[in-house]
Amino acid sequence: MTVAPGSTIGIIGGGQLGRMLAIAAAELGYQCHVLDPNPHGPAAQVSAHFTRAAYDDVGALREFGASVDVATYEFENLPVGPLGVLGDKLKPSTRSLAIAQDRAREKAFIEECGARVTPWRAISTLDEVNAAAAEVGCPLVLKTRRWGYDGKGQVWVRSEADAAQSWSAISEEPAVAEAGVDFFAEFSVIVARWADGRHALWGSPENQHREGILRRSTVPCSEAVAAQLDEARRAAVEIAGALGHVGVLTVEFFASRDGPLVNEIAPRVHNSGHWTIEGAVTSQFEQHIRAICSLPPGPTALTGSGAVMDNLIGDEVDRWPELVGDPGLHVHIYGKGEARAGRKMGHVTRVIA
Ligand code: AMP
Repeated sequence: MTVAPGSTIGIIGGGQLGRMLAIAAAELGYQCHVLDPNPHGPAAQVSAHFTRAAYDDVGALREFGASVDVATYEFENLPVGPLGVLGDKLKPSTRSLAIAQDRAREKAFIEECGARVTPWRAISTLDEVNAAAAEVGCPLVLKTRRWGYDGKGQVWVRSEADAAQSWSAISEEPAVAEAGVDFFAEFSVIVARWADGRHALWGSPENQHREGILRRSTVPCSEAVAAQLDEARRAAVEIAGALGHVGVLTVEFFASRDGPLVNEIAPRVHNSGHWTIEGAVTSQFEQHIRAICSLPPGPTALTGSGAVMDNLIGDEVDRWPELVGDPGLHVHIYGKGEARAGRKMGHVTRVIA
């Protein structure tokens, strides 16, 4: 059912993704209601309504649900059970969330969809880490099954002798052990899906990371990556369909010599899609709002010949005087208080004519 402009959209999570969703929603005439434990976050600053509550506060979620016409989430580290009180108002559903927030379920699901991932094992004991090192081979990466982001909760096992130390470095938490991929590039496929199965894709960005954090996304991607896009896009559409996903879904890939391997999925708008705000006719944020409100898909063509998005991490945001003085840059600053090391404080996009 269409959620008409003038209605209220609930956003669970108050970070920069929520902020950019709220701005896109406002342009279409919606009001947003943000739920987050932090009253001073980026999204609350630009939204009409705000509830300060923990994500597992069922009473607060119930009231929040009653006050909105549709609800969505902007990050995946949320407890799934309490969100049940939102029922069908929540888009995407808790199914997308439950699968994406557990790396072992996620990988098994991706494989069931016919897409490829690097060889992996679920592990919960040191013996299993040792067995994975012997069977899958080193280097391996241990990644906690839950609550990881931006490379947190990850440690490399370079040789079998590292196993015990690496296992304790992730606090002996349930994890996956996955083979290190000798990739030549990383890229992502961002897809928006509607409840009736329609979908929209953008040009796929090539992504550069440093210390597990995205630094730069570039569209169009290089020719070597472009050769892998047919398979990767088919996989992303298949995954979104199998989830019954409504809204934007991002699938991150390694471009390996043997073809595209899925790294992980995010059931939401994504940092590697920020360039779409100025670089595409319809941004990922507007498209997400369109999909969850059952408005028609917007066109996703590039506005120029390409775009480059750079994150402003930590004190890089202090360069704002120079950045806002560059007429070729679109500057986005998220309104976060303290520029801690590794914190995403903003981004800049240059559209290539
Ligand atoms: P993730 O949080 O899983 O997206 O990992 C963050 C970054 O670490 C990725 O974007 C890669 O640059 C790197 N990385 C993660 N897993 C692997 C892997 N299996 N092989 C090689 N590099 C990896």
